[in-house]
Amino acid sequence: MNLDDYRGVWVFIEQKEGVLLEVGLELLAAGRDLADKLEVELCGVLLGDQVKSLTKTIFEAGADKVYVIDDPVLQLYRTETYMMAVGDLVRKYKPEIFLYGATSNGKDLASAVATEVLCGLTADTTLMDVNVDKRLFEASRPAFGGNIMATILCKKHRPQMATIRPKVIKRLPVEPGRSGEVVEEFIDVREEDLKTKVVRIVKDTKKSVNLEEASVIVSAGKGIKDEKGFAMVKELAETLNASLGASRDVVEAGICSHDHQVGQTGITVTPKVYIAIGISGAIQHLVGMQNSDLIIAINTDPDAPIFQAAHYGIIADAFEVTPLLTSAFQEALKEPSKSSLAKQDEEGVTSHG
Ligand code: FAD
Repeated sequence: MNLDDYRGVWVFIEQKEGVLLEVGLELLAAGRDLADKLEVELCGVLLGDQVKSLTKTIFEAGADKVYVIDDPVLQLYRTETYMMAVGDLVRKYKPEIFLYGATSNGKDLASAVATEVLCGLTADTTLMDVNVDKRLFEASRPAFGGNIMATILCKKHRPQMATIRPKVIKRLPVEPGRSGEVVEEFIDVREEDLKTKVVRIVKDTKKSVNLEEASVIVSAGKGIKDEKGFAMVKELAETLNASLGASRDVVEAGICSHDHQVGQTGITVTPKVYIAIGISGAIQHLVGMQNSDLIIAINTDPDAPIFQAAHYGIIADAFEVTPLLTSAFQEALKEPSKSSLAKQDEEGVTSHG
């Protein structure tokens, strides 16, 4: 493999039922930075059926070029077809760096492509940079239980690939009217030749906790002790019309379900406000919430690491402070104009009262 044949930064732009997932657009921001440093093009890769019109949004989010394969066999995600299509593109156009969202499909595709084109893959990357002289992509992620950040290099194979979780990167501001080059490619396969068939789609109707999209999160840690303490935190969350988060210890104690867990093995969140109650601030928790716009922590221990990440710290017993906050917000929210939190969000996230 001649590494010098490989140039350009690529981002897999995931779509579902013709709607772009935010994560692809977020990754264009990271890709833009890498491409500018390497002085190469930033390219999106878009697969699907009747998806070409989505390229406009991809250019406005920072791409210079979009490789599109528009074919009915790509309407729904299947490892088999997507791996073939992306593998062919990689072999033909030879990108040096290729980023994917760490969604279920993104992770599945990235690992399949890595086996198809024989290259490495860094999963769940949280920080990215590039050594321009050596053209080496530096993908960093928590390792050894999150106690250290490991920077992973792929020196001998191309492309250098990574998955990145949704919400880790902030999107670039939309540039209306920005455009670029569309490269249309084809997949040489017929439906009847494929091994995998989509027989039926069963949508999960269970009401899930949508922490990723939440504007305000109130999160409980082991300092809340038990179900009674959790109910106290829940009351504050309900008052603020906020979503309810938790540390892993709270989840493991059976106090709430895993879909509330914030952190390395939970969900990465970037709300406008994150209130951490009785959470120590272990690195595995911090990596999941440290990009929140405003972090407020309540903890009895003044040395708790959460205070390093917090913008406001309340050194106090959560059992005293939380009910006081709840009643103060309830009072303030009776008259919405008095509440800054209520005004935070035009989407009505805190529009109580
Ligand atoms: P603790 O660390 O026990 O902290 C409790 C805090 O409450 C303390 O700071 C204490 O001072 C304070 N407190 C006690 N009483 C009160 C009171 N009355 N009022 C106010 N404060 C009080 N953790 C996650 O959260 N998310 C993850 O995704 C995650 N993934 C992990 C992955 C791996 C591979 C490993 C090894 C660990 C992971 N962890 C994760 C666990 C993590 O290391 C910590 O153990 C966990 O985050 C601690 O949870 P905590 O802060 O609730 O509990």
